[in-house]
Amino acid sequence: MPLESERLARSANSKESINRMGIGEVRLTDCANSNATAREHHRPSFGPCCCHFAAPPLSPSTTASRRLSLPCHNKAHSPDQFQCFWQEMDWFLIFVSVAIIWLASICKILHASFYPYQSSFANNAAGSLQKKNVLLVIAHPDDESMFFSPTINQLTSRGHNMHILCMSTGNADGIGDVRKEELYRASAILKVPLQQVTVLDHPDFQDGFGKVWNSTVLSNIVEKKIITFDNYGVSGHCNHRDVHRGVQFMLDTSHREIEAWELVSTNIVRKYSGPIDIWLSFWTAHRSLNGQMHCLLNEHPLRSYVAMSQHLTQWVWFRKLFVSFSSYTYVNTLRKTNK
Ligand SMILES: [Zn+2]
Repeated sequence: MPLESERLARSANSKESINRMGIGEVRLTDCANSNATAREHHRPSFGPCCCHFAAPPLSPSTTASRRLSLPCHNKAHSPDQFQCFWQEMDWFLIFVSVAIIWLASICKILHASFYPYQSSFANNAAGSLQKKNVLLVIAHPDDESMFFSPTINQLTSRGHNMHILCMSTGNADGIGDVRKEELYRASAILKVPLQQVTVLDHPDFQDGFGKVWNSTVLSNIVEKKIITFDNYGVSGHCNHRDVHRGVQFMLDTSHREIEAWELVSTNIVRKYSGPIDIWLSFWTAHRSLNGQMHCLLNEHPLRSYVAMSQHLTQWVWFRKLFVSFSSYTYVNTLRKTNK
């Protein structure tokens, strides 16, 4: 239609008005050749001219595109101005929409903080009234605060015995001992007793990219009810993925009934959408069959922030941003790992 409008505008020389009825009805008035006509038409605000369409009302995007397709001779409102106006409106509406959804998400989380909801996952894990041991297997000190804090907070607040097994001291920079202490401090913030936090310093499990961990050795160590990374490991870190492979190997080779859950990795948009992702996580978990997925809301997001701040060696600006804007601070989606 813009091309059609251009053709019509060119053929409508001078004071001629063009009226076409039907779909894409347009009334055009070219006032280029008459200053008097221009003054008459171009009223202080928005008068009828080649920039404007009288009827029928068009959608903003359609109207904008048609306006831009016609030459406007009125210096008071050039096509560039209209383009800027609609672009600003678009961005404004997007900004307002995101702000409203963000606010609604925060309200939802705060509501869960004051009125903890009945979590089917926590109930299942606990087996009615019995509080069971749950083992979280992570690769490095700080994984628990950066990725799993919604799960930890929900289980500990319901009285479960949370254990953390960290497969390395995070000694990539030679500060393994310091990071180990930081994990203990963060665990205290997250209400996990220190005697239930185990940090391995095994030569086969040293922190770093390119250091492949032995899945067989790892599987011999992990033997409890388990929560761990999925096969992508949230950030794609090879150690996270090795932990998943080790747990999976153990599940495949063990003859015991072991209940295992993995933290679902999301795409980058969802990963950095902050609390907004809770709605999609709820929807995804709700769609899963037979309770194979559970969405766990973080009932204490501030506690997660404080826990992460205990990892002083890692508490740099981009991790502060990560903890603030990562959806993993606000929600965890856990998927049952099949044997
Ligand atoms: Zn890690």
